[in-house]
Amino acid sequence: MTGDYASGGLVFKESLLWEKGKKGRMAFSMPLSDVPVAEALPPAMAGDGPDFPDLSELEVVRHYTRLSQWNYGVDSGMYPLGSCTMKYNPKIHEKLAALPGFATAHPLLPESLSQGALGLMFELQEMLKAITGLDAASLQPAAGAHGELCGMMLFDACFKARGEKRTKIIIPDTAHGTNPASAALCGMKPLSLRSGPDGILHAEDVAALMDENTAGIMITNPNTLGLFETNFAAIAAIVHEKGGLVYCDGANMNAVMGYVDMKRMGVDVVHFNLHKTFSTPHGGGGPGAGPVCVTRELEPFLPVPRVVKKDEEFALETDFPGSIGRLHAFYGNFGVLLKAWAYIRTLGDDLKRVSELAVLNANYIRESLKDEYNLAYEGICMHECVFSDKGLKALGVTTLDVAKRLIDLGFHPPTVYFPLVVSGSLMVEPTETESVEELNRFIEAMKRIRKEAESEPETLLQSPSRTVVGRLDETGAARNPCLCGGM
Ligand SMILES: *Cc1c(COP(=O)(O)O)cnc(C)c1O
Repeated sequence: MTGDYASGGLVFKESLLWEKGKKGRMAFSMPLSDVPVAEALPPAMAGDGPDFPDLSELEVVRHYTRLSQWNYGVDSGMYPLGSCTMKYNPKIHEKLAALPGFATAHPLLPESLSQGALGLMFELQEMLKAITGLDAASLQPAAGAHGELCGMMLFDACFKARGEKRTKIIIPDTAHGTNPASAALCGMKPLSLRSGPDGILHAEDVAALMDENTAGIMITNPNTLGLFETNFAAIAAIVHEKGGLVYCDGANMNAVMGYVDMKRMGVDVVHFNLHKTFSTPHGGGGPGAGPVCVTRELEPFLPVPRVVKKDEEFALETDFPGSIGRLHAFYGNFGVLLKAWAYIRTLGDDLKRVSELAVLNANYIRESLKDEYNLAYEGICMHECVFSDKGLKALGVTTLDVAKRLIDLGFHPPTVYFPLVVSGSLMVEPTETESVEELNRFIEAMKRIRKEAESEPETLLQSPSRTVVGRLDETGAARNPCLCGGM
């Protein structure tokens, strides 16, 4: 990426790393070889490769430091990106994940030499079972969407075992886009379920869709409007009565930990987003982990190998004839599992406090901004609150303008234009890790933007003005990515 940047009153042209340096410059001196030189590679396998730039260490350090300064992360400030749970991740967890015994463990080591890692995975499975109230767990899925895919494969395997073929699945209109995608990958046709005027699902609407050819339902709870699905148990009963199964998208578990028993709610499979709920920095797309917990009925189908405990030893067991097989090479993103284990062990019963504070902070923001911005739904919310663009449109500004102006005022924008059921939605998830002072600063910034929308809307339309690049053609960037040249 290129751009101009200012330093000490001067404006410099920032260039690509590719254009920096000079032939022959280097940042690293390799020691002389002290082993016999190997035979040359066959010519078909050798080549010059890309024309990498020759750079000094200082050039590399400055380039990447500058890029990091142009970036914005949870470690720079509040990042209220709804649904994504961008909370602060204690640095000690990175240290734990870097402990040599874990970081250098090889997945092909025999079980006898992997007891620490296997034991940690076994304990994490037990903790996730305790948090959901369900009977068995698999840590294999590598992301939320992967957990959904795993869940749909488990549904499919269960129906096959029952001698049934079910090809449809009910998915609410507020669901994350990954839900219908995961179901479709499993050959199921998504049936769209409308949420009610109160933003939640209603049993009679599910009853109208549910039949003997429908595999069941995927429900996010709390849903992506930040509302608790209070009819969940009644809906699950309707689905079960027709022989169907209930999937819960548990990406929003941070709102209900210690308060909700998934099994009693009627859940057959639920996935976690360990990278959202349990401490892993995940901006920019990874790595993650999306373990699933299931009922006793679905346990035989879980992916293999499974981590089990036999006579006080931990082992990897593959002898489960009903299993859907492997979902991942080896055991998933182990470092993410380790950080989740450490987070849960550190907090213990205080996991409840995490949920309480996540919900309290979201409601603080909802109450503080409800006069300036239009609340999509009245009433108490869970871990995130959603505003609509009603009231902004008349002023000639959009949700996007508000989001871009927030960047100038020092905040990462909330999620915008999702969920689709709210016009110009602005979804704020403050998370439990922000202090009241930071929440107040965010609220002040949002109030100021509302005033500016009336008195000087052009300020919003021209924002962001303090970033290296202004508004990007996001669709163009996705359709015609330019990965090698300047802008
Ligand atoms: C984030 C999220 C997902 C997808 O999780 P990934 O780890 O990004 O695949 C699914 N559902 C909901 C509600 C989410 O917030």
